[in-house]
Amino acid sequence: MGKSADLPDLTVRGGLVALESGLQAVDLGIRDGRIVAIGEPGMLPRGGEVVDAKGLHVLPGLVDAHVHVNLALGEFTTRDSFAEASLAAAYGGTTTIVDFAVPGEKETPRDAIERRKEEAAGECYVDYSFHVTVARSLPEEVLAQLPPLIAEGFPTVKAFTVYRDLVMIEIGEVRTLMATLAGHGGLILVHAETASIIERAIAQCVSAGETSPAYHPVSRPPIAELDTVRSVIGFAEETRCPVFFVHLSTGAAPELLRDAHAKGLPVYGETCPQYLILDESLYAEDDGERFVCSPPVRSHGDRLRLWKGLANRSLQMVNTDHCCYDTKQKTLHRDFFPDLPNGLPGVETRLRLLLTEGYAKGRLDLRRLVELTAANPARLLGLYPRKGTIAVGSDADLVLVDLAREGTIRAADLHQATDYTPYEGRPYKGDVVTTICRGVTVVHEGRSVGRRGHGRLLHRKIDHRELAAL
Ligand SMILES: [Zn+2]
Repeated sequence: MGKSADLPDLTVRGGLVALESGLQAVDLGIRDGRIVAIGEPGMLPRGGEVVDAKGLHVLPGLVDAHVHVNLALGEFTTRDSFAEASLAAAYGGTTTIVDFAVPGEKETPRDAIERRKEEAAGECYVDYSFHVTVARSLPEEVLAQLPPLIAEGFPTVKAFTVYRDLVMIEIGEVRTLMATLAGHGGLILVHAETASIIERAIAQCVSAGETSPAYHPVSRPPIAELDTVRSVIGFAEETRCPVFFVHLSTGAAPELLRDAHAKGLPVYGETCPQYLILDESLYAEDDGERFVCSPPVRSHGDRLRLWKGLANRSLQMVNTDHCCYDTKQKTLHRDFFPDLPNGLPGVETRLRLLLTEGYAKGRLDLRRLVELTAANPARLLGLYPRKGTIAVGSDADLVLVDLAREGTIRAADLHQATDYTPYEGRPYKGDVVTTICRGVTVVHEGRSVGRRGHGRLLHRKIDHRELAAL
């Protein structure tokens, strides 16, 4: 007898599953990489492989809407390949990563997308996609490339308002870009820091000889973020272009978003574990350069307001902004902070940190944690309900979690291609046991059992009804 068409080829049994309706003890039937059945425990037809989830919680595989792999920016290139970063993501329960196609000096956004597709092809352990990026200027030729890229499945476009000459576009160009995207089903991602405020502040630090990492946050004051967030919210009101503010760091930013939501504006925000957990006092420590990212991590009060913004829905996502430099790169200019590489490794540690600092400490319930790390990034990026949810018809992307498992975060135990983690020595409670991407187990009990090249390029389309549900 041949294999019956309606038998699952994989069943996940005995777990407590995070369905949209809430946590339920159900079994999941999977066939050809998709969820085909959700049934009472023990009631699904038997067939194929069985994954035992007894005692575990089963969450949708995490979506990381903000990672940087093999990024060359200025003097430094991040250390990891797509194979390394996507496997580290899987160790952390993430089954989709979305990176950026940043045009090099002579490249257009189209060139950059094609190059990035080649770099990642056949390399990834989990699924992946790219944000289009507009860098340095916005000529007609570039604007004309965007509607076809959106139609091909790359509807999200990143703009930087800082890093002059490297990637920055002027604020007036951001406005033009938003008008174009709004007319063609696109969404803008904005790195919101006002360049002129930061450039003056850096120059003042340098002329005063204040160039240790302790002055990094001084050179990037909260007002630099808030000034650009306010301007871009104004453009959203004018153009109705949906906005995804990346890596919000200030306690006041979620409050600006909340006011915009009250007006019905399509503006959304992420923060990252570093802004929730790390404190600006770290910059004055001996190894302060290791924590340099832009915007900088901020005060205890900012952190509390960011947590509040996640719980009260002013912010919609926690992604990582993974940027895998090592300590050699981080220390090279430790006496002159303006030349330090900006960014922190983190694609592997997001779920552990949020289970520990968010769930176990009562700041986020499990449903909200799933929304922030899976469902909402999928909705914003045009991947939902294929990704970010456990439902019949969705991809079988699952992370099996043991909420009671405790340990200590050590760089030596992680799989990121660097020699440090900003969270060294921190205790955690709640850990990944198994990660499944499209019905294939990628990581199980701390071992890689996946296949390089299993990950597929995802084409995306923004659904305005899903944005409205945020
Ligand atoms: Zn970033």
